[in-house]
Amino acid sequence: MLKLTAARLARESFSQLARVPAGRQSRDRSRADVPVGGRAVVMAMAAAMDGFGTEGLDFPTETSLEQWKLEHVARDIYRRSVASARIREEEDPTEECVACEGGWEASVAVLHRETHVAYLTKSLRHLSAGHVVLDASRCWLCYWIVHALALLGEPLGDDAARDVVEFLSLCQHPDGGFGGGPGQMPHLAPTYAAVACLAEIATLEAVECVDRAKCVAFLARCKDTSTGGYRMHEGGETDTRGCYTALAVARLLGVGSDAELRDGVGAFVAKCQTHEGGVAGEPGAEAHGGDTYCGLAAAVMCDSAHLMDLPELTHWLAHRQGAVEGGFNGRTNKLVDGCYSFWQGGAFPVLELASGAVLRAMGGAEGGADRRAGATRERRRGAGNKGGAGNEGGEAIASDASSNAACALFPAAQLATQPTRKTNTAGSHAFATPSFSSRALQGWLLLCCQLPNGGLQDKPGKGRDHYHTCYCLSGLSVAQHWGGDGLVGPATNLLERTDPLVNVTEARLAEWTRLVAQLPKI
Ligand SMILES: [Zn+2]
Repeated sequence: MLKLTAARLARESFSQLARVPAGRQSRDRSRADVPVGGRAVVMAMAAAMDGFGTEGLDFPTETSLEQWKLEHVARDIYRRSVASARIREEEDPTEECVACEGGWEASVAVLHRETHVAYLTKSLRHLSAGHVVLDASRCWLCYWIVHALALLGEPLGDDAARDVVEFLSLCQHPDGGFGGGPGQMPHLAPTYAAVACLAEIATLEAVECVDRAKCVAFLARCKDTSTGGYRMHEGGETDTRGCYTALAVARLLGVGSDAELRDGVGAFVAKCQTHEGGVAGEPGAEAHGGDTYCGLAAAVMCDSAHLMDLPELTHWLAHRQGAVEGGFNGRTNKLVDGCYSFWQGGAFPVLELASGAVLRAMGGAEGGADRRAGATRERRRGAGNKGGAGNEGGEAIASDASSNAACALFPAAQLATQPTRKTNTAGSHAFATPSFSSRALQGWLLLCCQLPNGGLQDKPGKGRDHYHTCYCLSGLSVAQHWGGDGLVGPATNLLERTDPLVNVTEARLAEWTRLVAQLPKI
């Protein structure tokens, strides 16, 4: 059996780029190199990459070259994955028929469940010395690891759960909230990480670990009454991350409907929405994937999403997905990155929760938003935009597998094969047609972001870490359960379903919520 793993394909693709030409390696990011030899480099690479074109690179910039290289790495991985599946089928005709539509992916787009679990489980007990720089992110490390294991259907054992709760209790500040590690000042980011991690554990010990009254008092102290937003810590910066983490913690602690905590958040977030349609960290800054998720989810949690221009937001989100790579980027003209599978991909189910009115506005016959909605629908029908970042022109690519683009190789599934959709927690609001290709996103994550020895990464060649493992898997869960286009790869790829507002697996969140409801009111 030919053992061509996605990671090996990725490595080989990068080394192939790096070999040609000598002295002009692909990862040479020196600004001075681009104008001097940029186009010649591209031409040499194109020749070495077996027929890939140089279209659109007449005037290469550092950005366009990096985009071009990543697209060709992804195409190469996809092309070789299909070839690998065909060879497998020839060697063992009893395997799933690769000639059948979509069948090829079942043998190569496989989630490396066991090695991911092994990587995460080991990390819970031991981290290498290099992690010392994450001393202020120790609550985050707990959340990234515990949530990723929960998505994989691998809950902690009793001992590990008890140890994590005990460690997080050491990070709790005497005046409320959690610091990044033991003895550190309270901050909204690790407070969210700690409470979400405890919700993922969802034992009585975990619930009782949080001093809820003091935690809510800490949230109130972080409230920036002059803007309506939240400061990340007392005296700190006000931004959309603060809004999200404060309201997510309040929601997890059962006080999400508190009027004082919610007051003014929606108006602040609306001011952060930019001319592009996405959301920035603060008014006047650039739209960004993490801030867009945080802003939108915060607005939804305080019932203020109607203050935002949601069709423009949807338009911006949809154009963050690279049709060739299948993943999302975080900003215009940036490369796709696995973690945005959740920050951008996860915003689509939050949009579902936002309002049925959004769907009506975008699906109706009238209004300027309809043209844009139409463009995103075209994209989803298996074509997509021609390129990834910076290709917002909307020219459709041919939907044949020979292009080796994610949107062509992973077309929308037939309706008849789609799994029955579960009712989401908000009940009636649901988009019939999400404006992103969930199958292309799954293809990107499974073939370009996984490492066979466990863990997931930003993009091929970057290497694994716990943050990207957590958010790649979170994005994969969203794509599998909320995309409406079914599963890429074998049935064993299916992850647990995550709650898109707080990013805790739904089953554990239900148990946590039940336990919190039994506690006295704050
Ligand atoms: Zn990333």
